Amino acid sequence: MLLNRIFRYELPTVIEFGNGAIRTLPDHINRLKGTKVLLVSDPGVQKAGMTDKLALVLENSGIPYSIYSDIEPDPDIEGVMRGRDEALAAGCDCVVGLGGGSALDTAKAIGLMLGNEGHIRDYVGINIVPKKGAPVIAIPTTAGTGSEITIWSVLSDKEAEVKLSVGSPYNCPDVAIGDPELTTSLPAHITAATGMDALTHALESYVNKATQPISEALSIQSMKMIARSLRTAVVQGDNLEARYDMLLASLIAAMAFNPTRLGLSHALAIPLGAHFHIPHGTVNAILLPEVMQYNLIGNLGKFKEIAQIFDMPTDGLSTREAAEKSVMAIRQLKQDVGITQTLSDFGLTEGDLDLIAKEAMVSGNVPVNPRMPTLEDLKQLCRDAMDR
Ligand code: NAD
Repeated sequence: MLLNRIFRYELPTVIEFGNGAIRTLPDHINRLKGTKVLLVSDPGVQKAGMTDKLALVLENSGIPYSIYSDIEPDPDIEGVMRGRDEALAAGCDCVVGLGGGSALDTAKAIGLMLGNEGHIRDYVGINIVPKKGAPVIAIPTTAGTGSEITIWSVLSDKEAEVKLSVGSPYNCPDVAIGDPELTTSLPAHITAATGMDALTHALESYVNKATQPISEALSIQSMKMIARSLRTAVVQGDNLEARYDMLLASLIAAMAFNPTRLGLSHALAIPLGAHFHIPHGTVNAILLPEVMQYNLIGNLGKFKEIAQIFDMPTDGLSTREAAEKSVMAIRQLKQDVGITQTLSDFGLTEGDLDLIAKEAMVSGNVPVNPRMPTLEDLKQLCRDAMDR
């Protein structure tokens, strides 16, 4: 299949990674000719002391800043425009995002709107943004979305109960600073959910139809790190080695899926998140084993490899039997990290399935999935995830 197509890999973002890496922030701001920073974070990140920590780095370097933290999980699209207005009013010409996917996606979109006309709504879709905006530096404090390097900002229209994605190479931050020390304050349940999100990125990209040799290598590396470190990061939050692995694994998983898109877990996660307010990582964790079971026959060899990465014994088994072990491995991981909810726990009922399946079917993640689903298949996947 690969022989018949040209593949492309592009990553415009400079990556700075390691414990204490936030020290490099002033150099990057100066290099990007930023004179005043809009520091974008959210109330949870502020409460955890991260915003103050970063503010101190800026103060010590004499870089002026203004804080914007009017952001909630699954950030609202209007918050981007308020942030843009605040940046203009305060004279900021550079954006630093600090937080999980919600803060980073907002920061990236504010950066875009500092260089483009109109409303961020005008740029929903892929490759619609006409030009680069203000410089953006992204500093993740969760290890899940990989937003610090992706082309995507996922925003919500809470009134309409839809999630809207803006995808553009201009939306890749100029710099991603990964500092694992910033993630030790993450509570266990958020560590678990965001870690399963990173795994879903690596895995869905690996088995999908748009995968390519570079993204495959990245997916394998990311899955290996998650296999050895997610459990430890959840049960020993202060274990810096595990936190290091997980932050790097989530970044590498995002490098894998940036050019390939994902699969049915993400196609379904978006409408389920929008209508039922299920945290993004949690909904992916709930769906992933069901989607894997459904997808197995689309790529048996790859699922066998996943079973091996997750240390399942496969000697003497047929490829099909070995592939089945990958589903068992992920179910076990989900259980071990304490994600025991089902979709029913979030209020999903049979009557909702038609709407969810229809909204999922139009996702760009469906055509690349290793098995083309019908609407009934999507509904059945949700039913399966309502029971376990
Ligand atoms: P999040 O950003 O919503 O954060 C979850 C919670 O964790 C928040 O309350 C936050 O305050 C808190 N938190 C973050 N870091 C903390 C820390 N170090 N200590 C204590 N608390 C902390 O969660 P997320 O899973 O990182 O992001 C989810 C969002 O990202 C969703 O909107 C999702 O659709 C989007 N997303 C984006 C991409 C992308 O490529 N841009 C990819 C996947 C998901």
